[in-house]
Amino acid sequence: MEANIRLRDIPSVDELLRSTGVAEAIECFGRPAVAEALRGVLSRIRDEVREGAGVPSPHAIAAAALAALEANDRSTLRSLFNLTGTVLHTNLGRALLAQAAIDAATAVMRETVALEFNLEDGKRGERDDHLRALICELTGAEDATVVNNNAAAVLLTLNSLAGGKEAIVSRGELIEIGGAFRMPDIMQCSGVRLVEIGTTNRTHAKDYRNAIGPDTGLILKVHTSNYRIEGFTKEVGAGELAGIAHEHGLPLINDLGSGTLTDLDRFGLAHEPTVSEAIADGADIVTFSGDKLLGGPQAGFIVGRSVLIEKINRNPMKRALRVDKIRLAALEATLRLYRDRDRLSERLPTMRLLARPKADISEQAERLAPFVERAVKGTFRVSVVTCESQVGSGALPLSTVPSAGLALAPPSGSGRMLAELATALRRLPMPVIGRIERGSLILDLRCLEDEEGFVANLAHLDPPAEGSSP
Ligand SMILES: *Cc1c(COP(=O)(O)O)cnc(C)c1O
Repeated sequence: MEANIRLRDIPSVDELLRSTGVAEAIECFGRPAVAEALRGVLSRIRDEVREGAGVPSPHAIAAAALAALEANDRSTLRSLFNLTGTVLHTNLGRALLAQAAIDAATAVMRETVALEFNLEDGKRGERDDHLRALICELTGAEDATVVNNNAAAVLLTLNSLAGGKEAIVSRGELIEIGGAFRMPDIMQCSGVRLVEIGTTNRTHAKDYRNAIGPDTGLILKVHTSNYRIEGFTKEVGAGELAGIAHEHGLPLINDLGSGTLTDLDRFGLAHEPTVSEAIADGADIVTFSGDKLLGGPQAGFIVGRSVLIEKINRNPMKRALRVDKIRLAALEATLRLYRDRDRLSERLPTMRLLARPKADISEQAERLAPFVERAVKGTFRVSVVTCESQVGSGALPLSTVPSAGLALAPPSGSGRMLAELATALRRLPMPVIGRIERGSLILDLRCLEDEEGFVANLAHLDPPAEGSSP
């Protein structure tokens, strides 16, 4: 049959819109969007028919349009299985929230709340009041405020307390946390002049003393969250530094980064300075994140002396950096969990995942190995391995936690097949993200809690075949 005769057999958009097959799509996506999708499919079909193809059934055309609508409607903010072994992965959204935090956030999303309203006297209240007492109780600080994230906390603190003046920092602490946060850049944005002292590996008390002058606004100490300088090193401890600052009437700001509220030694991790310790050591202001080791939503805490917090709160920049009721509610619920530290590892996902014993993870790996083997159709060698998980988000860069997982090794060590497998895993309905290490794809199971969901998801895997196209 001539192509232009067959072209006449292609149904029109109107005919298709009236057919029963698209009723459901219209219900879901609305008539204009369905009509647009059908037009797209029909235009492609016309091209194919001109090239000699047959005309698909109206049912098939409707199905193609529906598939296009569904693909276009899927959020790019996809849920996935984090099997990288990094518990707090910045690119994968950091901390998972506790149920109590999720419930609290959901409740305030639905309801009107006394966010800045004092129910006692009916006057205006302050949004920080909901957290202030709790943070002070948990950290020993006099006062506290909360902003968008720790980068904002540092920016706001520096600008409020030393805008137009000098801030002294050791060269060993001029950190970069993931591309966008570089201490010298943040300092410049905040309007303070950076005065670098000491050397990369050694900074002495006299370096601080010699740098202090009439233009000095504050001394800044930065926790080297994501690296360690080892060997011939010297740093001035927080306590001694507080002494030097106070001798000269200057505030000491301590940017802790992760700033845990509890001792991590119990999870077999190295000691990370706690916020209470930093306060006890004499820092006038301590800043830290909400979604790193604390295990809450993204936020930045500024805690310390009342007079300084008041000054920070008066800065107009504070208004631009504040958090909304949803995060406040989630933060409050998360902080409350710290009142019962013994049950923290049951209730707070970050602690639960960090505390998971290796034996438990190994057993899980043994259980899952046969399913993974079946899913890769024997192309990759699957073995149970021990590995090391990391905390992530710049906390404890050198301290890892013993873990277990599955190593998927390609035949004859083919790097191409390994990359193809990683791609196939990312294309699953619930993408699986592992890490490539020494010629294998490692799936660290520390963060795998939904085992059934993982197995069901594997049924959709389309693994690369040996000798498949390059
Ligand atoms: C992570 C980190 C920051 C930035 O915190 P965000 O909450 O990611 O904005 C700042 N300083 C230090 C020392 C950090 O470790």
